[in-house]
Amino acid sequence: MSVLVFVKEPHHLEKRCALLPDNVKVYKKLGATVLCETEIGLTLGFEDQDYIDAGGEIYTDRSLALSKADAVLSVRPLPLADIEKTPETCCSISFFDPFNNPDKIKALLANKRSTISMELIPRSTRCQKMDALSSQASLAGYVMVLKAMTNINKILPMMMTPAGTLKPAKVFIIGAGVAGLQAIATAKRMGANVIAYDTRPEVAQQVQSLGAKFLNIDLGETGSTDQGYAKALTDKQLQIQQQAQADCIATSDIVITTAQLFGRKPPLLITNDVIARMKPGSVIVDMAAQDGGNVEASKAGETLIFKGVKIIGNGDWAGEVALDASQMYANNLQALVQDMWNKDLSAIEVNQEDDVLLSALVTHKGELVNAIIKSQYSKEVA
Ligand code: NAD
Repeated sequence: MSVLVFVKEPHHLEKRCALLPDNVKVYKKLGATVLCETEIGLTLGFEDQDYIDAGGEIYTDRSLALSKADAVLSVRPLPLADIEKTPETCCSISFFDPFNNPDKIKALLANKRSTISMELIPRSTRCQKMDALSSQASLAGYVMVLKAMTNINKILPMMMTPAGTLKPAKVFIIGAGVAGLQAIATAKRMGANVIAYDTRPEVAQQVQSLGAKFLNIDLGETGSTDQGYAKALTDKQLQIQQQAQADCIATSDIVITTAQLFGRKPPLLITNDVIARMKPGSVIVDMAAQDGGNVEASKAGETLIFKGVKIIGNGDWAGEVALDASQMYANNLQALVQDMWNKDLSAIEVNQEDDVLLSALVTHKGELVNAIIKSQYSKEVA
């Protein structure tokens, strides 16, 4: 019988939680022992008793709990000091941020622990239930529109009143993947006039089906990877895009940028000279601010004013709706554990041959087993 250990989030700013009481019931049905750190769900309004009622066991001694773990599950990755307290056979599962963690990967290889990165779960139909990037991005799209709405000095819908007619706000959304499409749908629901752009041409139809307009820019061949992610543009293509969207940005009340390149720095899409052309009081929300930004003037974790335009680079978007984000993330984890569960042994099993783990397992038994991460760090962690 496997022991699943859930810790209070290691990062003090993390508001989400990897386990809700309903998940405990499912893990118990599988046959797992579920150890939950005291006050694990307190920030979401769950008492320890809720976890106990669902079949979990509350612990206060983290070192002792970790020493019994077959798997440790969290939103943010465990600190190395905690990982070292787990048995060598233990597997930790979290948003591991594998592209920015060479030192941690080195340490995990040295101490032979297994790591699964939720960012690397395949974006396939089979894995939709485990796709934590999508669940969190979808909430982020919603939250970014709310942020923009509460920071702009006008309303989004058209309003015809005896005191005059208010025009609908113009909202331009750059990047129409999971977050962008949710942002489009949210802004449309609020009555805004929404325009969107994405380098993947197949997205145009999805944008239009949400009632928004698609900005057509001819960049020539753009393409996507076999996982459905956008490929990086050439410098020339990026320049064409920046110029072609400049007028649309300058005349927008709200611009939301969600353009990302999987495993790479996000593209710079809005330069300071274009921001300077926007109306004072307009708002830009840069989803990518935390990773380098789509917007030249944005700063990670900050809201600032540049040339009269408010630029929001919060980063912790899903954390703003932590209860729903936790429910979705905890369900993603639960689906992964169910998929990894060996019914005969009543245990969680790291099966390297399985498609999901072929993609999401980073380190295992002292080896860097993930092909993408291996190619990224071939020299650094050798
Ligand atoms: P992402 O976060 O990597 O990128 C967000 C968006 O930015 C993408 O739509 C991308 O095309 C766009 N982008 C990149 N460079 C740009 C630029 N210069 N200008 C404008 N836009 C730019 O992507 P994501 O939202 O995580 O998902 C991308 C795609 O993955 C999806 O649209 C879909 O095709 C696929 N996906 C599939 C599944 C599934 O099948 N289960 C689930 C989730 C996602």
